[in-house]
Amino acid sequence: MAKDTKISWSHHTVNWWTGCSKVSAECKNCYAEALVKRMGRSFADRKMRVAAAMKEAYAYDAQAKALGKRAIVFTNSLADFFDPAADTEREAIWEVIRETPNLYWMILTKRPHLIAERLPSDWGEGWDNVWLGTTCGSKRPYKCEHTGALMTPLDRVKALQAISCRVRFISAEPLLEDISDIDLIGIHWIAAGGESGPEWNYADRRMNIAHAAAIYDKCKASGIRFLFKQASHQFTERGINALNLYLAEQAGERIDSKTCELIREYPTEADGKLMEFNPPGPNARFSMSDWRDYKAKAPVARLTILGQ
Ligand code: SF4
Repeated sequence: MAKDTKISWSHHTVNWWTGCSKVSAECKNCYAEALVKRMGRSFADRKMRVAAAMKEAYAYDAQAKALGKRAIVFTNSLADFFDPAADTEREAIWEVIRETPNLYWMILTKRPHLIAERLPSDWGEGWDNVWLGTTCGSKRPYKCEHTGALMTPLDRVKALQAISCRVRFISAEPLLEDISDIDLIGIHWIAAGGESGPEWNYADRRMNIAHAAAIYDKCKASGIRFLFKQASHQFTERGINALNLYLAEQAGERIDSKTCELIREYPTEADGKLMEFNPPGPNARFSMSDWRDYKAKAPVARLTILGQ
């Protein structure tokens, strides 16, 4: 079955609307903002597309059912599902999610403190086909846009842990610092990756692969599934084997950068029941010389210009 998304770690994307507002440091170079602006629209406008998304959802569900394997839908890649600006639409959207049991709806939000009051009334311990996640790639404080209170991404993880859910996950992307001391109780899956785009090599944005290794080690010790998405790079999904190369180097082992098995795990309940993923593109893996260049290229300091 053809995938409709370039994201190699999910099968589809469905956007119920597009547009958002920035929440914290991880949002700085939001790719959704760049894409929406490229479409000639204001990112601040929440442009609803519920009817179109509904058709996509039912079609993907029917395809997955025919194949006998479930598909992962990355939900709202161009928006935030728990954005209160879309409250009027959410009930109808939950209805579609309820009626598509062959899909796993991967819902990632930077507003987990708003989840509880926006769940459907029969949520119970969580629906089987919904994974709820939040972003935690740094510990930098920010002002909550809803309450004005100072909070950090660690507070988001706590808010997620308080929600009953079949699969709770953390997106540690962009990973901006070492977050390996976070409490992972109740977390089932972590996906980590580096900043991509023009700012990838700024010292305050570039991922230190040792920080990805630290969170990976903690996941392994705690039995939490882990997916390494990419190194920091100008382009997305580059250096998807960078963590393997780093770990082999630390252990004094040699591995083949072209064929080494990637660290791309999914939550246990999805194992064996998922559709095949499209293989990552030919440039997705670092060659040994890419890896040497990556290590040799020191992150650059950001120029601070007064008045900007
Ligand atoms: S919450 Fe997500 S979609 Fe909204 S600005 Fe931040 S990164 Fe972009």
